[in-house]
This record gives sequence, structure tokens and C-alpha cells, in this order.
Amino acid sequence: MKPKFADHKNDKNVAIIGSGPAGISAATFLLRKGFNVEMFERSDRAGGLLMYGIPGFKLDKTTVDRRINWLLEAGMKLHVNCEVGNNKSISELDKDFDAIFLGIGSTASNKVKIDGEESSNVHFAIDFLTGIQKRNLGNKNVNYIDVKDKKVVVIGGGDTAMDCVRTSVREGAESVKCLYRRDEANMPGSKKEVVNAKEEGVEFVFNVIVINEGTEYLEDADIIILALGFSPESPSFLKELDAVILSNKELHTYINTNLSSKDYEYTNTIGFGGDNSLKIDLIAENIFIKYLKKFGNIYSEECGLLSINSEYTIIVDPLD
Ligand SMILES: Cc1cc2nc3c(=O)[nH]c(=O)nc-3n(C[C@H](O)[C@H](O)[C@H](O)COP(=O)(O)OP(=O)(O)OC[C@H]3O[C@@H](n4cnc5c(N)ncnc54)[C@H](O)[C@@H]3O)c2cc1C
Repeated sequence: MKPKFADHKNDKNVAIIGSGPAGISAATFLLRKGFNVEMFERSDRAGGLLMYGIPGFKLDKTTVDRRINWLLEAGMKLHVNCEVGNNKSISELDKDFDAIFLGIGSTASNKVKIDGEESSNVHFAIDFLTGIQKRNLGNKNVNYIDVKDKKVVVIGGGDTAMDCVRTSVREGAESVKCLYRRDEANMPGSKKEVVNAKEEGVEFVFNVIVINEGTEYLEDADIIILALGFSPESPSFLKELDAVILSNKELHTYINTNLSSKDYEYTNTIGFGGDNSLKIDLIAENIFIKYLKKFGNIYSEECGLLSINSEYTIIVDPLD
């Protein structure tokens, strides 16, 4: 449903880095309250994993474009092919904007840590899915991973693994096998996806751990796709501001850190959310930290943070 946006703008400017669901929802709440929003996205299209990770047969890309268009209509400026830390410096953003929101996702693919992992026939799930999605969207000169008539083995048991096996089937693979380290009952992904994958001809092999030595059996494969999840990373560009995101359990953004004494201080200009954060109250607690500190005004139905009234109070409530 289309959100209601503010009729008038205030004088505060917020930069949003990343155009995935975290960036999109941050932009939505800010635009509803009248903030000026500019979004910086390193890819050629906005939407993050919604655009280039999740396959088109699962998520229609026109719905992603429609939501981005609503934000543009509401006055947001979007810069694609603009990577912060490369084409645009974070110091520049820090100078030009009152606050910055990091919604950069979690793109560091986990490895199995065995010999042969660097082979040209072994690929990360995200590279496989992104290439095919780009080709399907008509991007020119895409180097996608061609699995037609190949024996594909996908390692992993989550939603990403299911997207890989089901994409491989659609790409005309000769056979598609999914190896998972636990049993079916303990698969982390959606049960429906597993049922769908089986119906489409995917073979599942459970309780298999890929190891270097003591191998009980060998699996024949032309292409191996690793779908073992992602780890959040602290982007190197934050160093420019003496900032760092610490710990992958409970990520916070800090500035002027003193790592040895663990005497951290919250940044008052940078917030973050989405896959590069594991906190539940992402938007409320993080994006508006600047305003929370400066004006002491924030209210979130979900997080229970309460505030007094002021010009910049942000209400983080379900979209109407
Ligand atoms: C294959 C797959 C299937 C999934 N299926 C589901 C599902 O069915 N249901 C579900 O709820 N979730 C699903 N997820 C998870 C969901 O997609 C993510 O949780 C969600 O996209 C995270 O949103 P985000 O905004 O934090 O990050 P992302 O969607 O990753 O967006 C981050 C954006 O930041 C950009 N960026 C990064 N660094 C920079 C930089 N320096 N400068 C500018 N831009 C930058 C990236 O290019 C990217 O566009 C799936 C994920 C994958 C990989």
C-alpha cells in the first residue's frame, strides 16, 4: 500500500547508503516526516537483495520498482552506480548531511573452508543468483554462471539454497542436488520452498558435512554453489570517520573508539539497520540516533521508546 508522505519538507537532510529493504524503510519513514532524503546505491538498480538476490519467480521486480518510485515521487534523490567509499566519500556525506543511515546489507558470503573451494567451478550463491537476475532484467554483457545441462550441487539448507536449486532447475541443469548438514526437520528455510523444490525434481541429501579428510563418499558435480549464509562486516570507509561497527552478535556503530579499553561512544550522526545489524529495533534505535541525542524525541510503537513533542519527532509506526 502506498505510504502517506509529508506535504512539507523540514530543513534536515539525511543520506541513506544502500537501497535494500533497510534503506527503503528508513527513507519511507523519513519522507513521511518531511526530511530531505538522498539515497546512494552502488549497484545499477535500487532494491538491494530484493532486486538482485531473490529470484524473479519468487518476487516480481515491478513491485520493488513501484516502491522505489513512490519514494522518488515523494522527493527522494537516488544515486545509482554510486559506491560510498569508492565513488563518494563518507566524509563528504558527513559534511553535507545532518545524519547518515547505513543500510548496506551483509554481503560477505560464508565459506566451507576446505581445499578446492577456490576452484572455478565453485561459486557463491549470491554471484549465481545476481548474474541470472541481471540477465533476466535485460542488463547487457552480464557474465552469469551457466548451469544448463550441468550437474549442480548446492551446499546449504536455507532460503538462499532453495533459491539456488530452484533457479538451477529453471536454467535447465541436468540434475540438481542439495546437500545439507542436518536432517530435513532442522532445515532453516521455509518448508514450502523445500516441498516446491522436491516437486521440481531437486534431490536432497541430508546429514552431509563437506570435509577435507575421512570422506565417506564423493559427490559428482560440474558446478558447486555455496549457500552458507552471510556475515556482516564493518565497511572500511567508516575508518575515515574514526568509526567502526563492532561485534557480529550485537552490532553498534561507534565513533571515536578506543578499542583497547572498550570505552566506546555512540556516533551521533550515523545509524544503521538491516542485514548488517542484528538488532530488532533497527530503524528506531539506530537511524534516528542523531535526533534522539540532539532533540531527545523519538517514539516507536514497536520499540517502546517514548518522547515529548518536537518538530523533529519521528513516529515509527506500521505503515497506513
Ligand atoms: C537469495 C536470497 C533470498 C532471500 N529470500 C528472502 C525471503 O524469501 N524472505 C525474506 O524475508 N528475506 C529473504 N532474504 C533476506 C533479505 O533479502 C534480506 O534480509 C534483506 O534484503 C536485507 O536488507 P538490507 O537492506 O539490510 O540489505 P540488502 O538488501 O543487501 O541491501 C543493501 C544494499 O546496499 C548496497 N550497498 C552496500 N554497500 C554499499 C556502499 N558502500 N555504497 C552504496 N551502496 C552500498 C548494496 O548494493 C545493496 O543494494 C533473502 C536473501 C537472499 C540472499
